Amino acid sequence: MGALPKKKVSRARRGSRRAHTHLATPTLMNCPQCGARKMTHHVCPTCGTYNGNQVLRIEDKPREAN
Ligand SMILES: [Zn+2]
Repeated sequence: MGALPKKKVSRARRGSRRAHTHLATPTLMNCPQCGARKMTHHVCPTCGTYNGNQVLRIEDKPREAN
């Protein structure tokens, strides 16, 4: 048999451990080019620029999802 816990973990202790278990809200900023909300350190999905450079070609019509 492998290692086993000596004592049952109480509900309070288990809850305290899980208090930090949650998803973080993504940090958003306004794009300096187009002003849309975008994630930091990511290419803007609206205008396709990063750090003032055009890195993505944004098509006018959004592509149909297959
Ligand atoms: Zn943008």
